[in-house]
Amino acid sequence: MSARIIDGKGFAEQLRARIADAVPPFCAAAGRAPGLAVVLVGEDPASSVYVRSKHRATVAAGMESFEHRLPADTDQETLIALVDALNADPAVDGILVQLPLPRHLDAQAVLLRIDPDKDVDGFHPVNAGRLATGLDGFVPCTPLGCLMLLEDTLGDLSGMDAVVIGRSNIVGKPMAALLTARSATVTLAHSRTRDLPGHVARADIVIAAVGIPNFVKGEWIRPGATVIDVGINRTDDGLVGDVDFAGAASVAAAITPVPGGVGPMTIACLLRNTLHAAHRRTGLATADLP
Ligand code: NDP
Repeated sequence: MSARIIDGKGFAEQLRARIADAVPPFCAAAGRAPGLAVVLVGEDPASSVYVRSKHRATVAAGMESFEHRLPADTDQETLIALVDALNADPAVDGILVQLPLPRHLDAQAVLLRIDPDKDVDGFHPVNAGRLATGLDGFVPCTPLGCLMLLEDTLGDLSGMDAVVIGRSNIVGKPMAALLTARSATVTLAHSRTRDLPGHVARADIVIAAVGIPNFVKGEWIRPGATVIDVGINRTDDGLVGDVDFAGAASVAAAITPVPGGVGPMTIACLLRNTLHAAHRRTGLATADLP
């Protein structure tokens, strides 16, 4: 194996420490802590684990965590009323509704209801539009974390060829927009893409967000490329990514592991977005924030 392993866990710990350092000055200026509200509907075990770790990380950073756990049979009106109340609550800077919602609920309508200036997940179309047009807004946490790891590994991304595999609204599309904004040349691949191995073979940067275990093969990767594996797949062999790690690591220059790569960056970036939301809402400068 020749690739450098990109230590997302370590990077995320440092980012969280820098965020925690920025909280006391905010509290002194604003007279309160930044606040993150997380809404969980139902008992989905994976979602419960995510919500618990978001709560712990928020509190550890010195921020206020408001957890709202609603029963699985909650109706649309009740959920919308909660979002409205959180939009109006001055102590709440960020609102996150944990997905997936139970099937009887309209997730799109709920996400549309969140005040875009409290949308720390960056899923509201207003924030997607801001990202697409180069305006300041909230960027979805997972692609933001990937970008941080890439810039830490490669420095300036300008002119690099990047292939993003997967075009979801939460990972692939915002990832492609972020890389375009950094002047990379981006190919956004998906299930209808012809000759995916041929595209990957030309790429300096490969981002895999597909949801299929070990989907990207080592022999597709261009020697010296940097590989970011977003995938989290639960298999009989434990958690595995979307990239054949052993194969890719033998040719790539750098690669993220699963677990311990992109995953920890997602929560760190959620805290980062909440810190920024709190500053913007209070009229405080964000320029020096992590
Ligand atoms: P989605 O299921 O929403 O999207 C998957 C994408 O992969 C789609 O665009 C789909 O194409 C594409 N795809 C599927 N099959 C192929 C194929 N054979 N060839 C090329 N492209 C294909 O997934 P998400 O974006 O939500 O998540 C992707 C992965 O990232 C999952 O493993 C998920 O668990 C993980 N994830 C990890 C996070 C983290 O914190 N680390 C956060 C979020 C997700 P099409 O559009 O044509 O259907």
